[in-house]
Amino acid sequence: MKWQKITAVIISTALLLVSTVYNFPCQRCSQNIAYATEKTVDFGSFDMSVNDGEPVRGVDISSILAIEKAGVEFYNENGIKQDIFKTLSEYGVNYIRVRVWNDPYDKNGNSYGGGNCDLYTAAEIGKRAAKYDIKLLVDMQYSDFWADPEKQTRPKYWQKHDHETLKGEIYKYTSWVLQTISESGGNIGMVQVGNETNCFFCGEKDMYKICDLFASGNKAVRDFDRSILIAHHFANPSTGYYAWYAQVMNECRLDYDVFATSYYPYWHGTTENLTAVLKEVADKYDKYVMVAETAYPYTSEDGDTFGNAVSAGSDNAAFRYDISVDGQAQCLADVFQAIANVGNKGIGVFYWEPAWLGVNNISWEQQCELWKKYGSGWATDYAAEYDNSVNGAGGSAYDNQALFDFSGRPLQSLGVFRNIYPQKKIPPKPDIDSKVQGDVNADGEFNIADVVLFQKWLLTVPDAKLYDWKAADLCEDDRLDVFDLCMMKRLLINR
Ligand code: CA
Repeated sequence: MKWQKITAVIISTALLLVSTVYNFPCQRCSQNIAYATEKTVDFGSFDMSVNDGEPVRGVDISSILAIEKAGVEFYNENGIKQDIFKTLSEYGVNYIRVRVWNDPYDKNGNSYGGGNCDLYTAAEIGKRAAKYDIKLLVDMQYSDFWADPEKQTRPKYWQKHDHETLKGEIYKYTSWVLQTISESGGNIGMVQVGNETNCFFCGEKDMYKICDLFASGNKAVRDFDRSILIAHHFANPSTGYYAWYAQVMNECRLDYDVFATSYYPYWHGTTENLTAVLKEVADKYDKYVMVAETAYPYTSEDGDTFGNAVSAGSDNAAFRYDISVDGQAQCLADVFQAIANVGNKGIGVFYWEPAWLGVNNISWEQQCELWKKYGSGWATDYAAEYDNSVNGAGGSAYDNQALFDFSGRPLQSLGVFRNIYPQKKIPPKPDIDSKVQGDVNADGEFNIADVVLFQKWLLTVPDAKLYDWKAADLCEDDRLDVFDLCMMKRLLINR
């Protein structure tokens, strides 16, 4: 209809005039930055007997069930709300790591928090991962709460055991965990016996006795399924102790497959050192090597009102990359490259808690309620009885290192996983059939509600939230502005 076209021209002209005098916020127009996600990493001599011939492209999302229950929503790359396991699969993630704590509850059944990572949480995560053909690394911590180089507190029920009794319990418990996860449908590809066990494990500090305890867990894994890889995990390759840990494990004739490390680039030295230290262990003892945890900040902002582990200006943190999405992507690609550079014993990388977010834009008091109720933060008050570093409920100190933004949308840095080769299984493409041009509220159709929402968003009305910015980019120039709004109105009128 002619009058409709005239109306559209009038609206377009008016909006163009508005755009010349109204300075739209810069961050909303600058989505066309060049990202390091184009960089590819080729594991040229990859051992094709490992992980069906693909490098491990892994993430640890141990806290995901609690986060979802607390109300955090996740979206796919088209801005459509979607199961995060499906989204990760579409980005090429082929392994999920999940921590297991023996009994993360007080005597009244109140959770210590940190994702309520008991066996049943791990089993549920394993089941959901298997739906998308994603394998599981079971990270057994043999503690009731966080285990790291500073803390290796024995589970409550094991605290009075002598060495031999403890060995027996480790065997029985490991067997039970593997059986339960498998029977729930999880596809266990690897088991980590201990977490960041730098000469400290399950209360024991003698490395030879530690190896004897490791052996008990390892035997349980071998007896359960000989095709499962067994990993031992240490933290910080720049400590100078890795060769010694590997030597003692060799002296003790420990039966294991993978020597794994945490590598947080701002604390743990250079990628060149990471490669050199792991290559020495791999070559000398014929072990696979990998990074079991890594992360890097994309922002210094905080999304959940709980202070972050690192941000610009943090003491004792060496930021060798920009704190930006691009810097994060470059860093992650370089960590994969460092493992590829080890040679045919380098098997891959896990990113730590890339989705550990709080509900966006709520107060500290509201966040605190969620951490207490759902265990979605790092700790609840109930954990203080077991972990003396807990002085109240807290949230995520890693939300600024996530691979999803504070509102649950994948960052471009998550795309690094798509560029790790070889790839035998081509990652499924996101379901773009459901994407409708102009459908910015992602309800599956394009109508006046989308135009109203987009206009509000352009005018920075506080509660206006676009669910699919790409659907709004009708000019296809990777930026959203008044020209897209004009096109959207024309599209609606001419239908
Ligand atoms: Ca935070």
